[in-house]
Amino acid sequence: MNEDSRLVYSSDPKLNQKCARCKELVSECTCQKEVEVKNYKFVAVMRMEKSGRGGKTVTVIDQLPKNEIFLRELTTKLKKKCGSGGTYLMDKKEGVIEIQGDKRDLIRDFLTKEGIRSKG
Ligand SMILES: [Zn+2]
Repeated sequence: MNEDSRLVYSSDPKLNQKCARCKELVSECTCQKEVEVKNYKFVAVMRMEKSGRGGKTVTVIDQLPKNEIFLRELTTKLKKKCGSGGTYLMDKKEGVIEIQGDKRDLIRDFLTKEGIRSKG
């Protein structure tokens, strides 16, 4: 930080902290903090969606805990289990995993084995 840029900062450094996730000022950030998965009761909700221009079917697993490590590991396992591609994302409230293809049966079985309740 050089002298010039320091001048535009207010005297209270807390007011100038930015959220690492959305890059908004902390005072304006609406992100929720990541949750502790083991303390988080949830029921995953599955639904089918068409994605992209090709209209490929994806299985969306919604209402998952917002925890990046949990989502990344679960996505990796589901991709392996289903033998298809997939990704995860976190919105403001929750985590979402998308697996390519209609894999509801495989995913439901897998989630049950992992001790995760699901519906849809
Ligand atoms: Zn934020």
